[in-house]
Order: sequence, then C-alpha cells, then structure tokens
Amino acid sequence: MNISKVAVAGSGVMGAGIAQVAAMAGYEVMMYDLKPEMLEKGLATITKNLNKGIEKGKVTNEQKESALSLIATTDRLEEVKADLIIEAVVERLDVKQGLFKKLEEINGPDTILATNTSSIPVTRIGAALKRPENFLGLHFFNPAHIMKLVEVISGAATSSEVAQAGYDFAERIGKTPAVAKDSSGFIVNRVARHFYVESLKIAEEGVADVETIDGLLQGAGFRMGPFRLMDLIGVETNFSVTKSMFEAFHYDVKFRPSRIQEQKVDAGHFGRKSGRGFYNYEK
Ligand code: NAD
Repeated sequence: MNISKVAVAGSGVMGAGIAQVAAMAGYEVMMYDLKPEMLEKGLATITKNLNKGIEKGKVTNEQKESALSLIATTDRLEEVKADLIIEAVVERLDVKQGLFKKLEEINGPDTILATNTSSIPVTRIGAALKRPENFLGLHFFNPAHIMKLVEVISGAATSSEVAQAGYDFAERIGKTPAVAKDSSGFIVNRVARHFYVESLKIAEEGVADVETIDGLLQGAGFRMGPFRLMDLIGVETNFSVTKSMFEAFHYDVKFRPSRIQEQKVDAGHFGRKSGRGFYNYEK
C-alpha cells in the first residue's frame, strides 16, 4: 500500500501536530477544518513548533521551509483526497461517522481512513462505512509533534494490510507504534482515566485543591499534574473521553465523569485553548 499523500481532518490541538510530523517526514499534507480560522491557527502552531525546534537545534531552517511547503490547507471537504486520511475532529461518534462517510464517497477504494479517537471503539466508527476494511485507529498523543507513541488499533473489520500500512506509516514518521486491541480508551487512556477521575474526586470532595494535587503528583515524578494536563488536552475533550468510556464500560462507577469538570465545560473554560481552565492563561 503506497502512501504519498496524507490528509488530516481537524486542525485543532492534535490535527496540527499530526500534519506537522507527516510533512516533516516528507509527505504531501492537506490539512482540513470546517473553520478557516482554525486552519490559520493550526499553521501558526506548526510554524511556532518548528521555530522552537530550530532554537533547540533539533530542526534546520531547510527542514522547516520544506515541511511548510508540503502543507496545504482547505475548508472544502471535496478537496480532501489522499492515500491516508487521519481524522482529528471532536470526540463524537456522530460527527466522526458523518465525516468518514463523506470522505469515503470522495476518495477511491484504496484510500486508508484513520481515526485519532481517544475513546470511541474503532469498530463502532467503522460500522458506518462501506469499506470498514480500510479503516483503523491511529491514536497519537499530545503534543503530537513530540510524543513518540502511536497506538495502532484494528477494528473487527480492518484488513491486516491496512493495519500493517498504519503501523509502517507511524514508523516512517518517526513514531513508536504499539498495537492495541479495540477497546474503549485502548491502553493509555484506560490507565490514565484513573489519574484524572480520582484527582477530580479528591478536588470535588475538598480533600485538597487543584494546585496541591498537581504539585504532589509532579513531585512524585509525573511531568504534569492531572489538572495542568487536562488544560493542555482541552478540558472539554478530556470530559468527552471520560463520558464515552463511562458509557462504553456500562457505567462502571470507576469511570464516572466529574461534576466540577462538567461545570468547567459548561462555562467554556476549556483550558489553554480558551485562555482559562483549571488555571488562568489570560495575559
Ligand atoms: P480540538 O477541539 O482542538 O480540534 C478539533 C477540530 O476539529 C477543530 O478545529 C474543529 O473546528 C474541527 N472540526 C470539528 N468538526 C469537524 C468536522 N466535521 N469536519 C472538519 N473539522 C471539524 O480537538 P483535539 O484535542 O485536537 O481532538 C481531536 C481528536 O483527537 C478527538 O477525537 C480527541 O479525542 C483526540 N485526541 C485528543 C488528544 C488531546 O490531548 N487533545 C490526544 C489524543 C487524541
């Protein structure tokens, strides 16, 4: 399976980073989003990331220019044609299925469709498609241009060739693929859920405040405490993932979403992206 052109649907927190790593590996990339302002923001993020890479001596000027020249953007779905399309839009089954159905119509029978979902079973998303054998999960981690891990997930109908092509692609862009079975949250988000859910419970019960919990966990060796990490991820995205896993595990109380997190979402306090979350980022 020959992949030369890649498209990324959604240019938010994850999509921009995925587009960046694909372009850095020499792929022609089409970045698509419903909102033109998100495409602009995505490109600005990629440029900022590459400039930081230059400052640190990890990226050369030529690599930056070459990567940027390989990225095109569009808000027109009919222009999203590629050998591999990686979806990174909102964590909602209906939105993802609707998008993939349209992408399947626009693209040829050999196009591989991949989802970056954090928690929705790949089989469930793929069930809406005419060619579920061409569909798989490629789950990147945040920040996508830095984190090495990519979980590669086959749905019940994914062909072994497509799974292998996804695995090989992850390696080609310099990532470390790990094969995971199709189960809500896969490996990392299933383990990590307790990091968030239990910390939120501690804060909700008033056992300790957000800063103290973050400080203690950081002191214990985590790079970031749970609240700072939720702010980085997107509080609303993290909340959607917990809700989706709570449902997928038949309302197992250990995955119960948090009231204080829901309130942040209601208030539009999504974290860094909105300027305010568990912490304030407004200047
Ligand atoms: P985000 O909200 O930052 O970005 C989503 C983007 O998708 C937005 O720019 C929005 O305009 C666009 N969009 C929404 N509906 C669309 C549609 N129908 N067609 C085209 N564009 C559309 O979200 P994110 O944090 O990048 O998350 C995207 C996906 O990646 C989710 O499934 C999430 O679970 C998963 N994920 C997120 C993280 C994380 O840390 N944020 C990590 C791994 C996986």
